[in-house]
Amino acid sequence: MNCKKGKNLENCSCTYEGCPRKGICCECIEHHRKKGELPGCLFSKEKEREYDRSIGNFCKGGTAH
Ligand code: SF4
Repeated sequence: MNCKKGKNLENCSCTYEGCPRKGICCECIEHHRKKGELPGCLFSKEKEREYDRSIGNFCKGGTAH
């Protein structure tokens, strides 16, 4: 199976510029999971821009849906 980076980038809501994992969702999840965090796409638009990917911040009502 080929990486769907191009398609993923079309839907990526992360605004953190310069991240080498952008569009490579498996690496994005692994990176944040190791730090006890969640990927930016799970946060609301406002919360995503705070760049606080902690589960605590997510539980403060920062969900995307
Ligand atoms: S959520 Fe984190 S790892 Fe994923 S694209 Fe954004 S900055 Fe990179």
